[in-house]
Amino acid sequence: MTRAVVSLNAGSSSIKFALFTLGPDGPEHAAAGKLEGIGIAPHLVARGADGTVLIDQDWDNGARLTHEALLRELFGWASQHLPEHEIVAIGHRVVHGGMSFARPLLVDDALLEALDLLCPLAPLHQPHNLAAIRAIRTLAPALPQVACFDTAFHHDRTDVAMRFALPRALHDKGIRRYGFHGLSYDYIARTLRETDPELARGRVIVAHLGNGASLCAMHDGKSVDTTMGFTALDGLMMGTRCGDIDPGVLLHLQMQEGMSAANVETLLYKQSGLLGVSGVSSDMRALHQSPDPHAAEAIDLFAWRAAREAGALISSLGGIDGIIFTAGIGENDPIIRASICERLAWTGLIIDGESNARNAPIISRSDSRIIARVIPTDEERMIAVLSLGVVRPAAGVSQ
Ligand code: AMP
Repeated sequence: MTRAVVSLNAGSSSIKFALFTLGPDGPEHAAAGKLEGIGIAPHLVARGADGTVLIDQDWDNGARLTHEALLRELFGWASQHLPEHEIVAIGHRVVHGGMSFARPLLVDDALLEALDLLCPLAPLHQPHNLAAIRAIRTLAPALPQVACFDTAFHHDRTDVAMRFALPRALHDKGIRRYGFHGLSYDYIARTLRETDPELARGRVIVAHLGNGASLCAMHDGKSVDTTMGFTALDGLMMGTRCGDIDPGVLLHLQMQEGMSAANVETLLYKQSGLLGVSGVSSDMRALHQSPDPHAAEAIDLFAWRAAREAGALISSLGGIDGIIFTAGIGENDPIIRASICERLAWTGLIIDGESNARNAPIISRSDSRIIARVIPTDEERMIAVLSLGVVRPAAGVSQ
């Protein structure tokens, strides 16, 4: 039997998963997949480490299948087709750890109850994260499960970086800037320490630019400031989320335009960002291909906002030594990277057109004062690493 750990990232309509075996140098990627279209037309695809398709399945009348039913199907398939693996733990991405949870934790009843209380702070993500944990507790009660928090990486920032200019009582109640994408930032910080230790010790901005997007200002691998705040709505313009917005707009929409709070929520989370501005798509690739001038306007605003927020974070850091691009757009889109870097030329950053065009690991010129790098993120691996850190000592699991 090969010991293995599973990473799960459960959302409203999809569940991403990855299987890692326990290698001598850490988790080794063995398989990964995605269950998507939950509630409509579920579709499961999983691939082995070499890219071969292990399963590609649809379900007749699949719309009625719940998360729990589909996880049961996934479990059944895994125990039949990956029987040589002994699962020692399942690690979950849990979006919100609130004020208390700064490290990954073994799930028990008390933790689940405490995490339930945080659902109103992340209504689109947290309930699904917790539902997956509960479903697996039913399917395999003895299997250790670990909650890995997206907020944890930002937990130790200074009070001033976490405070809104609101009455103190609200801050004390938990209305503060938490920050998200922490699993991705943790992975990038650790990878940078290995690939470029000198830069890792310096002042770095990491640009996680995907469907969700944020920036993190790091000094010596620690979060100093970040663009997301109380929720994952704040900061950069995203696929369908608005990012930073004058709070007066929200008052206006409700008091003058007569919108309900629920409609404002849908507008801000699902109808804004690249989709709202372009009227074409939330997907950056589709926007690049569109002849619609509003698509070009959305692309321009995305880069302008990212550079503007980077300027604010450079001030939080007191300068900048490097910038790292990651996630779907950050790893693959030379046009957006160039557009952001050119707007940051005042820092001494000079982008190298040829290396940027081929998504090279270093995309700045050798005479640039600032290093610009591309590092693919791997949140699933980070979950596996963090989960093993919890279960190894707890259960005496060795390699
Ligand atoms: P993520 O949420 O990290 O999966 O990123 C999704 C975003 O990355 C979408 O807007 C995609 O259009 C974008 N993306 C993925 N691949 C590319 C690519 N080759 N060029 C431009 N954008 C890309």
